[in-house]
Amino acid sequence: MDCIFCKIVSGEIPSKKAYEDENVLAFYDLEPQAPVHILVIPKEHITSAAEIDESNSSVISKIFEAIAKIAKELDLKDGFRVVTNCGDAAGQTVKHLHYHLLGGRDFTWPPG
Ligand code: 5GP
Ligand code: ZN
Repeated sequence: MDCIFCKIVSGEIPSKKAYEDENVLAFYDLEPQAPVHILVIPKEHITSAAEIDESNSSVISKIFEAIAKIAKELDLKDGFRVVTNCGDAAGQTVKHLHYHLLGGRDFTWPPG
């Protein structure tokens, strides 16, 4: 499958890893939008949050366990933001489910 993030999982495209286990990979975003900007993804290809169902949802809890671990390790104790863009209108450019973990600055709400 021609998917950039599957290629990052396989090592075909290099990445700067922040965390890895059997099911989850986290790596630094190429175009950081905050001092800390990490993408946390399932190793299995899931297209977006719209494709989560009973057959694949167990990895979502693993992703959020990883996010909490990374936030502790990077000392994001003032707060951080987790975002997933789902579909074109939300600005999803890579069609492999990913959670942006953003930290190291303040964030506004609501988002643009
Ligand atoms: P989206 O726009 O789909 O929510 O987020 C995709 C993110 O992937 C963007 O923030 C973009 O900078 C990042 N990205 C795209 N290609 C690569 C890549 O090859 N390596 C890394 N590390 N990040 C990438
Ligand atoms: Zn993929």
